Amino acid sequence: MPETYHAIDELVTPFCEELSIPFIICQSTLRGRIQDWHLKNNAIPMIGFKSCTGNWKIRVIRRIMREYVGNGRGKPLVRVQLGITTDESRRANASDVKWAVNSFPLIEAGISREDCEDRLVKAGWSVRKSGCTFCPYQGSESWNYLKTNHPELFEEAVNLEENYRANRPGRRQGLLNKPGRWLIDGIPEKKGSECDSGGCFL
Ligand code: SF4
Repeated sequence: MPETYHAIDELVTPFCEELSIPFIICQSTLRGRIQDWHLKNNAIPMIGFKSCTGNWKIRVIRRIMREYVGNGRGKPLVRVQLGITTDESRRANASDVKWAVNSFPLIEAGISREDCEDRLVKAGWSVRKSGCTFCPYQGSESWNYLKTNHPELFEEAVNLEENYRANRPGRRQGLLNKPGRWLIDGIPEKKGSECDSGGCFL
C-alpha cells in the first residue's frame, strides 16, 4: 500500500534514526516483485498456500539475517520479534528453524490490536494496516478502499486475476476467495476474511 511506504518514510525511518536502530528494507533478489512473478507464472496468491509469505517475506528476511549472523550449525543465533497482538495469539507459533527463535513482545506485554491503534492515535500517527494490495486475505472494505483510493492498484489486481483466469481455465476461485466471484464483476457487500486472519508469518 502506498500508505505503508509513506509511513516508512515519514514515521518509521526518522523514529529509527532518532534511536539509532538500523532499518533495513529486504527485497527478494531471487524472484523479483511478487506481482510480476505471479503474472509471469499465471498465478495468484491463494488462501491456505503460504508460498507468498514464505518466498517474499520469511525467506528474504532470513537471508538478510544470515548475512549478519552467519551459520551457527543448529545453535540459536537470532531472536526474531514478531508484532503479533493478544487478539491474534493463534498466530504466535514457534520458528521452524533452530537458529532463529521467535518471540512476541506485544503478547508478552499484554497489548492488543486496539491498544496499538490507541497508542498510534495518541502519538499523532495515522497508520493503515499493511499488506499486498492484491492480498486474498483482505475483505470487501479493504478492496473498496483500494478501488476508491488507488484505482491503478485495483486495476493491477484485476489484471493479475484476469491473467490467471485466462491461462488456467477451470479454476473457480480468485482473489475474492469466493467460488465463481471475480474482481472484474465487482466487490461483494459481505465482508470476507480479513488480512489479519493469519495468512502471513504463520
Ligand atoms: S499480504 Fe497477502 S498476498 Fe502479501 S504475502 Fe501476505 S498473505 Fe501473501
